[in-house]
Amino acid sequence: MVILVFSDYWHPSKSVLESGVLGLSLDDVALETRPILARSDKPVTGVMKTQPLVPPIYHASTYVLRNVEDYCDVITQGGHLYSRMGNFTSDSAECAINAVEGGAGSLLFSSGMAAVSTAVLGCVNAGDHVIAPTPLYSGTFELFKSILPRFNIEISHVESGSSVEEYKKLVKSNTKLLYTETPCNPDMSLTDIKAFAELGNSLGITTFVDGTFASPYIQRSLQFGVDISMHSCTKYVGGHSDLLAGCLTVKTPEMWQKLRHMQMMIGCVLSPHDSSLLLRGIRTLGIRMEKHCANAMKIAEFLEKHPKIERVMYPGLPSHPQHELAKSQMLGGFGGMMSFDVKGGKRAGITLVENVRIINLAVSLGGVQSLIEHTASMTHGPLIVSDEDRRAQRIGDGHIRLSVGIENADDLIRDLSQALDKVSL
Ligand SMILES: *Cc1c(COP(=O)(O)O)cnc(C)c1O
Repeated sequence: MVILVFSDYWHPSKSVLESGVLGLSLDDVALETRPILARSDKPVTGVMKTQPLVPPIYHASTYVLRNVEDYCDVITQGGHLYSRMGNFTSDSAECAINAVEGGAGSLLFSSGMAAVSTAVLGCVNAGDHVIAPTPLYSGTFELFKSILPRFNIEISHVESGSSVEEYKKLVKSNTKLLYTETPCNPDMSLTDIKAFAELGNSLGITTFVDGTFASPYIQRSLQFGVDISMHSCTKYVGGHSDLLAGCLTVKTPEMWQKLRHMQMMIGCVLSPHDSSLLLRGIRTLGIRMEKHCANAMKIAEFLEKHPKIERVMYPGLPSHPQHELAKSQMLGGFGGMMSFDVKGGKRAGITLVENVRIINLAVSLGGVQSLIEHTASMTHGPLIVSDEDRRAQRIGDGHIRLSVGIENADDLIRDLSQALDKVSL
């Protein structure tokens, strides 16, 4: 039996820039301009003299055909047929992401976890082996720990922030995926993306980088040679804490087709409405990231000097153990994420996060509003990991994760300062 796969006919949507508008192409404009100009080059409908500047939201789940032949034409030549197979708004948002990442094409998903699980399921078969760091984003950790083993997929862990040599030591004949997250959630350690990609490429093993903490404006993993770059667009790419989405951007059209097929069959696509919100967010990615980075740098320097703070992990600080690596791969700045340890353990950490007035006590990250959490009692708290496992993951009792927003930096510093005044050692 021959199995026909629709997506073998399909290609990533090209943005008008990739096709070259009036001789202007991606390389002619700066990174911050790319997501603003990027638009799908597929016309909204048939022949029109004008095109909307902002892509419309078509709520339609299906598209009316003139005749049966249209059906086959759309499948083989592109167009829209049924919304799980793509819609105009998400095509445009995919173009905008790919314009920043510089890959063969992007795919948008209903969440970051949908993107992660689709990529992993697309790359491994029963009997295969995956190497991933620990700690790691808790959802991904859970997928690796309790779901993949049910399908006879074996996982080995390296310590986050360890050198690529550690991955190499664990490679076996059935290793099919090298997975990393950099900067790592929540400890802010880094993986050398170039060395990681070189290892995978030299062994013919697929490499995957979750770069959510940096955003694609700052860290363009594909430029270092990895196969799949993932971002939870819920965070910086969307940027306003008002949607859930994820994206994958890949090195080759073949990988795009493979993952497109997987996504269609799993069904984890992004709705046209959320795609529209996301696209609106992406347009300001550059300017937001510059403010996130500038604010975070000031705050990290303030915290590092504060007598009640034990240590700050921010890739932009010379005291970060991988600051040199950060300079070589976080090219647009050092991001808006940091972690730090308050002296005085759990009680001190809780006092701090409960006394901020501008910063919000909330999980998640990457939005315009600053968010803070006490890691040891929330995302890595007793409901999720034992104290012993948490400390083994180097997350101390006073560990705080801070997502710095785009408010005025001095307002944020004053806010942290007055909350720290309430911490008694
Ligand atoms: C949030 C996050 C995810 C998962 O994204 P969702 O959009 O919540 O599904 C994956 N990796 C990292 C590093 C994250 O911060």
